[in-house]
Amino acid sequence: MWVRQVGYVSPRLVRVTFAGPDLERLTVVHPAASVRLLLPYPGTQELVVPSWNGNEFLSDGRRPAIRTFTPRRVDPGTFELKLDIVIHGGGVASEWAQTAEPGDPAAISGPRRGYAIDRDAPCFFLGGDETAIPAISQILQALPADRPVQVHIEVAHPDARIALPDHPRVTAEWCDLTPDAPSGDALFAAVRRADLEPGVRVWVAGEAAAMQRIRRHLFEDRGLPRSQASVRGYWKHGRSGDAGDT
Ligand SMILES: Cc1cc2nc3c(=O)[nH]c(=O)nc-3n(C[C@H](O)[C@H](O)[C@H](O)COP(=O)(O)OP(=O)(O)OC[C@H]3O[C@@H](n4cnc5c(N)ncnc54)[C@H](O)[C@@H]3O)c2cc1C
Repeated sequence: MWVRQVGYVSPRLVRVTFAGPDLERLTVVHPAASVRLLLPYPGTQELVVPSWNGNEFLSDGRRPAIRTFTPRRVDPGTFELKLDIVIHGGGVASEWAQTAEPGDPAAISGPRRGYAIDRDAPCFFLGGDETAIPAISQILQALPADRPVQVHIEVAHPDARIALPDHPRVTAEWCDLTPDAPSGDALFAAVRRADLEPGVRVWVAGEAAAMQRIRRHLFEDRGLPRSQASVRGYWKHGRSGDAGDT
């Protein structure tokens, strides 16, 4: 596949539209699914598809640039896929997205499973940082219209706020991360002060260490049944690639 179009959803979120006949087979059933995006090695236009022997990538020793993203929109009719990529301090994908141009090559694998919504749940709590905005938007669009939904999104910069999809019963809060605070701090505070009714279904994603704190709080302090919550590390502070606990 290749880049068809690049645009900005916000100054901190780049929407890259990909196209190619291989996208015909991409079927995404649930919201908040994921795909693995393979990019050219930084500084090159060459897409080297790595082979995997079960333990390591077989290539020339360089680690392939593979990152995980939410398939924000998939249109098998036009063979198009849209990914919303956060611009952060520096990273292969973040930097690639800022300079990507129509025709640039890329490849994907997946999808991996998304979030199966319990349509009988009385209410929902959705939380995340900027990387979770695409997934939260999708879940919000898919939730039953008559159920209350709390949304709490942590942003490292006010510019990261975007218009979320409409939902008749949503209460949305943007939580500003104070400079110097660790990622996830403002989100953790929002979870801690949230009023969670019995039966609530919780979906949260963001920085891995912050997700550990949120899991502990939900399961140990509040005694929330694990079956009612999905808390996912989307990235890990100081580490490239996946958070490792997804
Ligand atoms: C299931 C799933 C779905 C995801 N969906 C999306 C999505 O739709 N959009 C999206 O943008 N991301 C998404 N992510 C997160 C994304 O995979 C990571 O942020 C990834 O590390 C970005 O790659 P990179 O090459 O830009 O940075 P990397 O090279 O992986 O990391 C470089 C450095 O930047 C840090 N870093 C990585 N991400 C951030 C960040 N957001 N803020 C601050 N520092 C960061 C790392 O800790 C590291 O120190 C998802 C992750 C998972 C597991």
